[in-house]
This record gives sequence, structure tokens and C-alpha cells, in this order.
Amino acid sequence: MKPALHTLVLALALATAGAPLRAQSPPAAAELLEQADAVRSTDPARFGAALDEVDKRAGELSEPQRQHLRLLQAYRLGYGGQYPAAIGLAQDVFQSAADGPVKFRAGLLLANSAATTRDFSLALKSLENTIALPSEGIPQELIEQAQLVAGIIYNQLGQHEKTLQFATSVQQMEASERSRCFASQLQYEALANLQPERSGERIPRIREAIAACEAIGEAVASNLMRINLARSMAAQGDKSGAIATLQAHTEEVEKTRYPRLVAEFHSTLAAYLIDEERLDAAATHARAALEASRANTHSLPRVSAYRILYEIALARHDIPQALDNYRHYAEADKAYLDDVKVRELAVQQIRNEVQQKDQAIALLSKQNEVLKLEQQVAHTSAQNTRLLLLLLGVVLAGIGYWAYKIKRVQMAFRRQAQTDGLTGISNRRHFRDAADAQLKRCGESGREAALVLLDLDNFKLINDRHGHAAGDWVLKQVAEACKAVCRDGDLCGRLGGEEFGILSCGGDADAARRIADRCRERLAAIDASQVGHDQRITASFGCTTSRRSGYVFETMFTDADTAMYRAKGSGRDRVVLHADDATPTPTPAVHGRLETSPG
Ligand code: GH3
Ligand code: MG
Ligand code: MG
Repeated sequence: MKPALHTLVLALALATAGAPLRAQSPPAAAELLEQADAVRSTDPARFGAALDEVDKRAGELSEPQRQHLRLLQAYRLGYGGQYPAAIGLAQDVFQSAADGPVKFRAGLLLANSAATTRDFSLALKSLENTIALPSEGIPQELIEQAQLVAGIIYNQLGQHEKTLQFATSVQQMEASERSRCFASQLQYEALANLQPERSGERIPRIREAIAACEAIGEAVASNLMRINLARSMAAQGDKSGAIATLQAHTEEVEKTRYPRLVAEFHSTLAAYLIDEERLDAAATHARAALEASRANTHSLPRVSAYRILYEIALARHDIPQALDNYRHYAEADKAYLDDVKVRELAVQQIRNEVQQKDQAIALLSKQNEVLKLEQQVAHTSAQNTRLLLLLLGVVLAGIGYWAYKIKRVQMAFRRQAQTDGLTGISNRRHFRDAADAQLKRCGESGREAALVLLDLDNFKLINDRHGHAAGDWVLKQVAEACKAVCRDGDLCGRLGGEEFGILSCGGDADAARRIADRCRERLAAIDASQVGHDQRITASFGCTTSRRSGYVFETMFTDADTAMYRAKGSGRDRVVLHADDATPTPTPAVHGRLETSPG
């Protein structure tokens, strides 16, 4: 067991021992747990008994309380020197407990126990992890304690700058007087190593710090600083002053029973005494140093004490004793150097870990950058794709729009080409083409087709009398009349100036006459008075059927035209049906006539 550091940490822990134990019977398990915690470092027997009792009644505890119990059990293991078990349990509590004082204390205990077993790497890792815990709900004293323990460990590892950082941090955090006392002890210990040449300057400040620690009864810290003070004085050439400073507090130091302090105190004193050739006193203090460092075989005071004893024996010409002391000195020196190596190794290991962590972080941030770039590229390419699709869409829409426009223009052109501009019905050419196609279908289906042609009578007179516009108006009315008499599928067109035609598939001679008659009636019904023409609109009709003229449009047209001219010739305003032998007969309706033209 290497209790030096552990004892100091224990001393620190005393301040956070908590409320004094209150007698109650029978206390609840949770209360008993608090009581155990309160006496854990002051009354080991009661602590152990209370803990055993709580352990039996662990079923009554909540999960956080059970973690608290396990923390106290880990403390007990540590107090009993069972460090590996204490470390295991503390590690477990640290990992499984929720953030809060129990977890924090588990981390501290872990660090403390690891440092005690010289596992500095684990100690520092645990400390750093503990200090990094969220500070909400953690008593300030625990936070101070963690920083102080970190300072102690870093000093032991020769990382004095780190110790200075932690010590300064505690001094800046409105810590308790006790914590500030320990912080100044750590600070001056670190500075003695970092700036040995300035030890003289520090003397007054060290004295002040010693006084502050003494004022609150912190003998360990004040006397550790006193050793520092004595060394500073000796460095200034004041060895007798250094001796006097130390000697005045020998009893007080012994009382602390803190091995590191006692051993260091005596070995320092012995070294100055031998320089003053006070061999007996030096030997006494050297032996006291050895006594105090029995458990600490690797400590420097032990090395120094054996060397002093060797020198004293040599000075007294006690060669066997000198040899014996020298052998011990060599062993202690080796043990000390081995320990130095252990600490250097730990520092190296920690450095490596930090380096690896830094490298991992650097790698991670590089990976992050790559990831970000990839995301940017993906984002940009997605944007490009979207833009491309949009562009494509716009182009397609444009093409579609233009295709549609072109189609519409084409259709408009076609309609324009097929329609008569004035009346809106088919023009002659389209009428002929459509009639050709319809007659073909009609012939194929064996149905008869009827063609009715009409030519307005004396139309020229309307133009002459009422103007061309009036004539146009009449032409439009006539076109409407023609459309009105058509059935679905019939063709209707303006074939010339005042000449119109109707082709009806499925119609015979009677149907042709009926169409012509209905048309005559409609023409008669046109009231042209609004364009100044107050006479009836009449026309001469010529009709034929496919039975009479065949299915060829030109033939049918010629026959119907001939019949129409016969109607003109026989007095106008009548219907003449093309026939081989029939003679025209007057049509009774609308004062008209029906005639039949010869073939
Ligand atoms: P008929 O009874 O013998 O057929 O005599 P009509 O006057 O109807 O026949 P004619 O052939 O002598 O005259 C046809 C007239 O139709 C001549 C022309 O000015 C007129 N016309 C032709 N196309 C149009 C047109 O688009 N608008 C107008 N207002 N008149 C037209
Ligand atoms: Mg005419
Ligand atoms: Mg005419």
C-alpha cells in the first residue's frame, strides 16, 4: 500500500464529511445511509456497521440511493486497502449513476484509488472525466476537491504547469479557506520546481500562506509549505534559518502522522543538519524519515535519508555501517528511479492518449469537412438536376405550347381555307371535296344521296338598290337558312356569289324536295326590311339524287345546276328536280313551284 497521496485526499475529504450522526431508532434505510456517509472518515467502526445494516435493507432504497450505497462500499474497500476492488466498484458507480454528487464522488474516489496504486493514467483519466461532469447539483467543496486532487497528481507526475492551473483555478473560484490553503501549498510546490531561481522572492508570500493555513489548523498544508520555505531559505544561504524554521515545528509535524510530510520534513532537516556537521541530530532525523517512509519504499526522502546515514557512518569511520547504509541507499535510489520511470511512463501514456485524441479529433473534423463538401456537392448537383429538369420542363412546355399554337394556326388556316369568309359555311372547294368523300361513303353503303342547289333570284338588284353591305347581310341570312334545314351529317356550302348547295346522304328525291321547300320557306321568312329591302327573298332550286345522277359529285352538280337553270328559266322561285322525262311542276308552298329538269 502507498498511502501518502491517499492520506492527503482523505484529509481533504474530511471537510465534506457532512452532518453529524443523529441517534434515531430505528432509522429508515435511506437515513441510515446518510448517517453512514456522515461518519465515513471519522468513525470507521460506525461507518462499517451502518453500511452493513443498510446493505441488508437495500430493498428499501431507490436506485440513486443504491448507487450511493455502492459508493460508500467502494470507500470502505479503499479504506481497507483493497484498492483493485475499490477501483472496480467506483468505476461501476461512475458509469451507471446519474449525473450528480454520487457520480462525481465515485469519479474522485476512482482517481484517488488509482493514484494510490500508481496507475496515474487511470487516475488522470478519471479526474478529467469527473471534472468534465455537469456541475449542477455538485457541492462546491467537491468541485474544489477534484481540482486539488488533480493538482496533487500532476505535481507527482512532474506536470507542474498543470498543477499551477488547477491551483489558480481553485484560488479564483471563491473556494473555502481550506481549499485555498491546499491550493497555495500546491502552487508553491509547483513554483519551487518551475522557478527554483526565484525561491528568494517567494519567501514572504510563502510565510503568508503558511499563516493562512495555520489560522484554520491545516497542519499538513502549512508544514508542507514550511519545508518549501526552508528550502528557499537554504537556497539563499540561510541553512541555519532553515533548520530553525523546521525544528520549531517537529512535534506538530509528527502529530499529523501524514507519512509524506513527516518523511520529507525529517529528511530535509537531516540534510541541512549534516551540512552544518550536526551529525547526531542529522542521524536522528534521517532515521525518523526512514520510519515515516517505511511504506513508501520508492520515495525520495528515503533515498536522501539513507545517503545521509551512509555519509554519517563514513564520517564516523564505521565502514560496515556505511556499507550497509550505502546498500540501502542504492536500493532506495533504484526504487525511487523505478517509480520515476513509472510516473514518466504514465505521463508519456497520457501524452500519447491526448495526441491520439487530438489526431482522432483532427481526423473527425477532416471527415466532417469532406462530408460537408460532399453534401455541398450533392446539394449543388441536386440543384443542378432540379434546374436542368426545370429547364427541360420549360423547354418542353415551350415546345408543347408552340406545337399547340402551330396546330391551332394550322387548324385556323385550314378552317379559313375551308370556309367562306362572309357566311362561315363551307366554300365551294371544300364543299366539293367533302361531297366527294361523302358520296363515296354513301355509295359504298348503298344509300341514296340528294343534292340541292339554289341561286338567289335577282340578287343583283338588292346590291344595286341597297348597297353591297345589304347584299352581304342577305347572303349571311341565306347561309343561316341553309344550315337550318340541314340534318346532322348533311353538307352545306356557298358555291358561288349567291349560289348555295346542300348534300344530304340517305335522302331521295322527296327528301331533296323537302329540303328545298323548307329552305324556300326560310328564305321567305327573312325580314330584309332592316337593310331596306322589303321584298321576299327567293331563290331558284335545282335538285338531283344519286339514283338519277350517280355518285360522282361533278355529274350531280351539273344535273342539279341544269335543273336550277330550268327553274330560273321557268319563272324563278321554284324547285326543279332533275329527271329524264319529267316536266317541271309548280311548287304549292310559298307561292313557289317544283319542276323537273330533263336529263
Ligand atoms: P338571276 O335571278 O338571274 O340569278 O339574277 P341575279 O341578279 O341574281 O344574277 P346575276 O348573275 O346577274 O347577279 C349576281 C350578282 O351577285 C352579281 C354580284 O354583284 C352579286 N354578288 C356576287 N357575290 C356577291 C357578294 O359576295 N356580295 C354581294 N353583296 N353581292 C355579290
Ligand atoms: Mg348566280
Ligand atoms: Mg342569281
